[in-house]
Amino acid sequence: MILGSDVSNLSTTAATAVARGLSIVVPVYNEAAGLPVLHQRLGALATRLRQRFGLACEVVYVDDGSEDTTLAIARGLAADVLDVQVVSLSRNFGKEAALMAGLDHARRGAVMFMDGDGQHPPDLVEKLVDHWINGGYDVVYTAKANRDNETFLRRLAVRGFYALINWGARQKIPEDAGDFRLLSPRAVAALKQLPERNRFFKGLASWIGFRQIRVDYEPAPRTHGVTTFNVMRLLGLSIEGLTSFSVAPLRFASLLGVLLASVAFLFGLSIVWEVWTTGKQVPGYPSLVVGLMTIGGVQLIMIGIVGEYIGKILSELKARPIYFVAEHSEKRCEAEAAASPGERTAAE
Ligand code: UDP
Ligand code: MG
Repeated sequence: MILGSDVSNLSTTAATAVARGLSIVVPVYNEAAGLPVLHQRLGALATRLRQRFGLACEVVYVDDGSEDTTLAIARGLAADVLDVQVVSLSRNFGKEAALMAGLDHARRGAVMFMDGDGQHPPDLVEKLVDHWINGGYDVVYTAKANRDNETFLRRLAVRGFYALINWGARQKIPEDAGDFRLLSPRAVAALKQLPERNRFFKGLASWIGFRQIRVDYEPAPRTHGVTTFNVMRLLGLSIEGLTSFSVAPLRFASLLGVLLASVAFLFGLSIVWEVWTTGKQVPGYPSLVVGLMTIGGVQLIMIGIVGEYIGKILSELKARPIYFVAEHSEKRCEAEAAASPGERTAAE
């Protein structure tokens, strides 16, 4: 029985990998205002990529249950320069699910994740593609060059999050890495084989290994609207990420337990010692209350942490689909079909 997985037939540098082209996956949730402009920019990008690398492109817009006119606008986008797929989910499933839906529908070989709000500059994509095609990298990820515009508290929280999630991990998740990344065909194949339903792409993309490279960039301001990730949602996402990806919190919990028990044991010893040497009864009320409250509080936290993991196990056990596609449409780019009639059947 083979328990590993061999994806070496999808070699990254081979001409066939490049010939299959690039799918740009864009999750969109209430991005109606900026979609036409983004599509235009992606069209220009596709033209440049074709000229420079001979790369054929498609874009997969995943409408994550938008409440505005995003879907209608996406349906109306022209496939004049690149193929366009529009995958509409049955409700808002969240960005990770939307990315998965895009990955599942991508028809070309390599996949690029890109936000639909204009924060991920299409101009940078050329550089990422260059790392893939000429550098032979499988995962080209981008990271915020700096966090100068963020508050001290937020930076501290980010630090803490990565310290915890990477604690004891063999493969560390790079700090500040975003979802804006390019995956080679074999990295895509590897990611699609991971069976878990609670997905944390930043972690998984790093976990699969292969040749990875970091590219620093400054995220542009949103072209419109506001971010959907407020502090509470970010906190939720962090707990999601931590519990679905790492057992560090559990380990932390056990260590804290050991630490507390040791302190209690030493404290007990010191009391025995004091009574023995001085013969005086130690006044116990305050130390008793402090001790009780500490233990009580710590136990509640630990039960909470364990509970998070039990919740994860339950949701994995139920094995519900990660998303439902309510509607799927696609437009083939005429110019592209004429340019490479044979290659498309090979890719499918
Ligand atoms: N997004 C999504 N589903 C959601 C929330 C966001 O598909 O439930 C998309 C959103 O349209 C955007 C990307 O995910 O393309 C990033 O979202 P946002 O800009 O709100 O996050 P931030 O850039 O602040 O991390
Ligand atoms: Mg954004």
